Amino acid sequence: NRSPTATAANGTDDPSTPSAVLHRHLHHRPLRITSSHGLYLTTSTGQRILDATSGAAVTSLGHGNPRVQSAMVAQMNQVSYCHSLFFSTTAAEDLCAELIRGTDGAMARALIVSSGSEAMEGAMKLARQYWVERGEGARRTGFVAREGSYHGVTLGALAVGGHVLRKEKFAPLLGVEVGRVGRCDAYRGMREGEGEGEYVGRLARELEEELRRVGPETVCAFVAEPVVGAATGCVPAVPGYFKAIREVCDKYGILLILDEVMCGMGRCGTLHAWQQEGIVPDIQTIGKGLGSGYSPVAGLLMNQRVVDALDRGTGAFTHGQTYQGHPIACAAALETQKILQEEKLVDNVREMGLVLEKLLKEGLEDHPHIGNIRGKGLFWGIEFVQDKATKAPFEPSEAISAGIHEKGMEEKYSISLYPGSGTADGRKGDHIMVCPPFIVTPADIEEIVRITVKVIEDFFQERAG
Ligand code: PLP
Repeated sequence: NRSPTATAANGTDDPSTPSAVLHRHLHHRPLRITSSHGLYLTTSTGQRILDATSGAAVTSLGHGNPRVQSAMVAQMNQVSYCHSLFFSTTAAEDLCAELIRGTDGAMARALIVSSGSEAMEGAMKLARQYWVERGEGARRTGFVAREGSYHGVTLGALAVGGHVLRKEKFAPLLGVEVGRVGRCDAYRGMREGEGEGEYVGRLARELEEELRRVGPETVCAFVAEPVVGAATGCVPAVPGYFKAIREVCDKYGILLILDEVMCGMGRCGTLHAWQQEGIVPDIQTIGKGLGSGYSPVAGLLMNQRVVDALDRGTGAFTHGQTYQGHPIACAAALETQKILQEEKLVDNVREMGLVLEKLLKEGLEDHPHIGNIRGKGLFWGIEFVQDKATKAPFEPSEAISAGIHEKGMEEKYSISLYPGSGTADGRKGDHIMVCPPFIVTPADIEEIVRITVKVIEDFFQERAG
């Protein structure tokens, strides 16, 4: 029987058998996962793989949480779907109320969508509508964003994103005007002898100069990740950077959009990463850890300033999606957020994050090909260099992080690999990210660091030998 259904049901990982799935992997067909529990994924051939990156910084509660599963089933039995234009659900109402409460009143409304890219697209449209309702919509259409950033796959999100490799095939990006400023990265950006305050001052001036170049009256928002995720590998801003940026935005009346799709929802040791920066954004996106991977769910939060602008019009956001506020996705996210609070998991992120930092630095800081280990909470990046002294990044053809991932798989260990942290255009250099679920224990952290160190050492030894 060669019907497609039979092939799928009997599915094989044999690379010579064509797959019906359009896979994205560069090197080989992905392993088929047939069960998952806690920090582990199990393949169709029974291999148990330790996932040290929570997927892509997603599975904050780990796999198989019975409370989330029950909440989703209960929701499915109650209301599985309704049209969000005419109806709402308790799950959506309670989740949005919970999210607003989690900002200590800094944010006023939430909108729930299905992915981080949609959340970013919504945030950009919301910023534009803000200016439309204020009567400046015709001229305030542009954005300013940073190099070395990633904001999603859709054409608008790609346009603000600063990761050249991910966007160059798709140019021109539908005419979104984007001014560009440098990233805030102590390792790559600070000059010899420059203090943090001077660096922050220089970046704030750079933003101001870019605004003047494009015309500040043409800009609707500045967009940034508080801790940069996949593009450069868990890079926190230098202290004071976001305060200085917020001041420049305020000086020109420009909205501040913070993309917390990867670094937010507890990942960096506070529910929102901006809560460590002493500022509040006007619009914020969330995703990934919001629903811990149990359902595709993301969202955007906005402050009262944005709500007031919408109220100058009809009060509504001109934006409606079929699966907006999806009841089962909301139930998964709401239960995830309840568990986060009841089990004090964000406190665990902070505590285990300190252990992870200490052990990673002890185990790897002196390695000749490790340039920088940085991060916050359970969000850590390890950047590889050819030469520690010059910080010269590896060429893409060396595929360092891909090689380390493959070496990890020999140890039944999955670690996310990303190219592009070494240069401003993201064309050179590599990093890996260590971002385990929030439920990790000290023993889990020790195991994760032990394998990470082994894999990196083995990889570079074999490469040299
Ligand atoms: N923004 C950031 C900071 C991200 O890291 C990502 C995904 O990695 C996105 C947006 C896009 O989210 P999604 O992949 O859910 O569309």
